[in-house]
Amino acid sequence: ASVFACIAQAPEDPILGVTVAYNKDQSPVKVNLGVGAYRTEEGKPLVLNVVRKAEQLLVNDPSRVKEYLPITGLADFNKLSAKLIFGADSPAIQENRVATVQCLSGTGSLRVGGEFLARHYHERTIYIPQPTWGNHPKIFTLSGLSVKYYRYYDSETRGLNLQGLLEDLSSASPGAIVLLHACAHNPTGVDPTLEQWEHIRQLIRSKSLLPFFDSAYQGFASGSLDADARSVRMFVADGGECLTAQSYAKNMGLYGERVGALSIVCRSSDVAVRVESQLKLVIRPMYSNPPIHGASIVATILKDSEKFKEWTIELKSMADRIISMRKQLFDALRERGTPGDWSHIIKQIGMFTFTGLNSEQVAFMTKEYHIYMTSDGRISMAGLSSRTVPHLADAIHAAVT
Ligand code: PLP
Repeated sequence: ASVFACIAQAPEDPILGVTVAYNKDQSPVKVNLGVGAYRTEEGKPLVLNVVRKAEQLLVNDPSRVKEYLPITGLADFNKLSAKLIFGADSPAIQENRVATVQCLSGTGSLRVGGEFLARHYHERTIYIPQPTWGNHPKIFTLSGLSVKYYRYYDSETRGLNLQGLLEDLSSASPGAIVLLHACAHNPTGVDPTLEQWEHIRQLIRSKSLLPFFDSAYQGFASGSLDADARSVRMFVADGGECLTAQSYAKNMGLYGERVGALSIVCRSSDVAVRVESQLKLVIRPMYSNPPIHGASIVATILKDSEKFKEWTIELKSMADRIISMRKQLFDALRERGTPGDWSHIIKQIGMFTFTGLNSEQVAFMTKEYHIYMTSDGRISMAGLSSRTVPHLADAIHAAVT
């Protein structure tokens, strides 16, 4: 008998499991709105032209070898990533107060940041929004932090529960860590306005809470890299400290390359140097050093003004397609006279719409219409196209009537 005979079958990941179920379905009309990956109007994955160009340059460069990167990753990539999220004129960068390390996409950046905090920060509690991306509680628990929730979403208004958020953060112990989605909150698509961010910032600073930004969608929400970084920059502008996990999965379409960065903004450059030295001790026994290819692509694009420009145009066209899917779905429901107020579809931003459909309605849509989505009613707008919108609208209409 196997020494592993007593091991129980683990459940599928709630998000990636949707794709597993989708792949098994033989129906020609099936639609996968589960995983948050961009698709073209033809339903195909997209490799950006600028990424192809950067890869060509890399392939044709004979000086490129496959040596190990340093533990902290590609130095150019780190500098350029910090500039991208904090802004080229950020005082924190100019004063050398930012420690940036290349990590395995957004997830790896969150994990390294979480483990660093668990080892070195005096307060072990991290507050995450309710609801949030399903991986957050697991990442931070396994990092050694203790996870608590703050209220975020109001299902009545399908908007932000600012009052609840402020109350919960007010009663947090001083110094507690607060995870914030920099933009395009997943799964709700509900972001604070700039004034609301300012309230949140004041409370966080007055209670000496430590903000940890998860920036998985910079540029993908509004189409503008700067607009989507405003929340983060507001917190850096006040001179205080924060952490930021960046991902290039969505905004450069580099999902499987696993390229991202963790930046820790410190009060002074000597603190940043010591922080970086400790980040190396977190990373070295975890995966030794990060992969070279994806970071080289990103650095090639970010350091060349022409390629950078080309990237922003392609990025905007992805964001615009998603925004146009929102409009089309909203109009299709209105045409069908589907009961309920569906204006949240066009108000929410980013990759997802939090439809308000419950798990029975979702199960019905999967069974009868072959539409795959997470059971919390979240749909990935990026998986939709003009061709599939009417089918989805029919399914939603049938599910709620
Ligand atoms: N954070 C949020 C809110 C996300 O939605 C995602 C991806 O879905 C991630 C982080 C991390 O993604 P990745 O590790 O692929 O960069």
